[in-house]
Amino acid sequence: MLGECYANDTNNSRHWQVIRRLVLCFMKIVQEHAKCIGCGSCAALCPKYWQISDDGKSILMGSKRDSKGNYELEIGQVECNQDAADACPVQCIKVIK
Ligand code: SF4
Repeated sequence: MLGECYANDTNNSRHWQVIRRLVLCFMKIVQEHAKCIGCGSCAALCPKYWQISDDGKSILMGSKRDSKGNYELEIGQVECNQDAADACPVQCIKVIK
């Protein structure tokens, strides 16, 4: 579906990343995982994307971990992720449009 991103897409060339971002993916959700205190607000408000993991912190499902240890997911529509970001007490969820 055009409005959704392909989280499992293995083509990570710079060229494809730009095309994917411009055409298929309009925004990115980023979680600074180290800052998460595991309060569970994001998982309660947005269970489609957020879940408490074994380390007691939340994890953004389908995301990839970057070199800084943050989790990132490109998506076509923000859906409930804005609610999760707004509710996060340590503001470790960013919606980048
Ligand atoms: S709302 Fe923020 S602090 Fe709470 S579990 Fe989610 S990411 Fe962690």
